[in-house]
Amino acid sequence: MKEIPKFSKRYGVKMDRNDPLSKFRNQFNLIQKTIYMDGNSLGLMPKSSELYIQRIVNEWKTIGIDGWLEGKIPWFFFAEHMGKKIAPIVGANPSEVIMTGTTTLNLHTLVNTFYRPDDKRTKILADELNFPTDIYALKGQIRMHGLDPNNELTLVPSEDGLTLNESTIIEMMRDDVAVIMLPSVLYRSGQLLDMQRLTKAAHEKEIFIGFDCSHSVGAVPHEFDKWEVDFAFWCGYKYLNGGPGAPGFLYVNEKHFRETTNLIGWFGYVKEKQFDMSLNFEKASNAGGWQISSPGIIASGGVEGGLEVILNAGIQQIREKSLKLTNYLIELADYYLKESPYNVRIGTPREPDRRSGHIALIREKNAYQICKALKKHNIIPDFRPPNIIRIAPIALYNTYQDVWHVVQTIRKIIDTKEYLEISEERTFIS
Ligand SMILES: *Cc1c(COP(=O)(O)O)cnc(C)c1O
Repeated sequence: MKEIPKFSKRYGVKMDRNDPLSKFRNQFNLIQKTIYMDGNSLGLMPKSSELYIQRIVNEWKTIGIDGWLEGKIPWFFFAEHMGKKIAPIVGANPSEVIMTGTTTLNLHTLVNTFYRPDDKRTKILADELNFPTDIYALKGQIRMHGLDPNNELTLVPSEDGLTLNESTIIEMMRDDVAVIMLPSVLYRSGQLLDMQRLTKAAHEKEIFIGFDCSHSVGAVPHEFDKWEVDFAFWCGYKYLNGGPGAPGFLYVNEKHFRETTNLIGWFGYVKEKQFDMSLNFEKASNAGGWQISSPGIIASGGVEGGLEVILNAGIQQIREKSLKLTNYLIELADYYLKESPYNVRIGTPREPDRRSGHIALIREKNAYQICKALKKHNIIPDFRPPNIIRIAPIALYNTYQDVWHVVQTIRKIIDTKEYLEISEERTFIS
């Protein structure tokens, strides 16, 4: 590969030709004539997801209620089945993971279990860069104990508005902290936190720690058991490609299976006895105990398909290609977009083990309009205020040539100043 200059178009062609994951691209419903770079927000639809959703619709149509026990994957055991499937890519035992709820809901159920303020420990430690819904939910959890979030929620500050320093987080693990809840990946900059180091430090201070892994599961391998994480949760629709509003997942370390929750529902009952319909709740002694309601079975078919592709490709291989793609993007952006008038800088840590699957391109001025202009060129990125263009080249369906085109198109948009014709007014989702 030496003879092809890295910054030529031909380099991307060559990389694609030698890509061991290239065959998976064809397993997705790609959007025609479009370069999709938003799989960190909503993954594209796997062809198998479409089939599995159809299968479930058909089961409903032809066998009705019998689908609960006689569906191809019996609906009654769907959540456990998916938990077992996903366990290896998060480094968990099958009994420690369950498909259930959605991200924010799962945060509520888990924090309800792990946040037990007492005379000594009353605080939750989180960070100021987290996805807002997580912070709203944590404040609600504090209020449920009759406490004031202004006193009890401590947010780790960021020095640059983009990244967090693990050492600062560790310094803030004081004696009055009951629970730490952090994202695995910061949704704007794409920084991947060192979950192992943070967990070790938290446990040295006898603090529970959990992670919102919405932006890492499906892109990065996890080792929850090895790291001894207390709890975790994540969504099904980003890198897992499960579909809009897909069911999420939660993980509880088995040493906590006996802990209780007050967000109780009948799907958390001991499975074998759920239909005895006793009025005295008996919590399942595994992650299933944190379920609340009947799972959305039709949507679960989307997750079934998404997960299947990931397992077939292998999470290590996905991570390897993902890092190559993001590295290529960083190199091209440095080469083609750094100087004036482009003025684009990288907001994501450059060290491979400190980033997940997307790159934050920062442009102080007109980032929103440039993002919109990219859409006009059939490239789908997303924008996070005030100045971040997020580009997520997905290992399973994006190519090196896609990355090349994105960088060249941004350059063109700035050269022609065509973005100036686009309104700065924001739409609902962008
Ligand atoms: C995507 C994401 C969410 C989304 O929450 P939902 O409850 O699934 O709508 C929450 N937190 C983080 C960190 C996310 O990345």
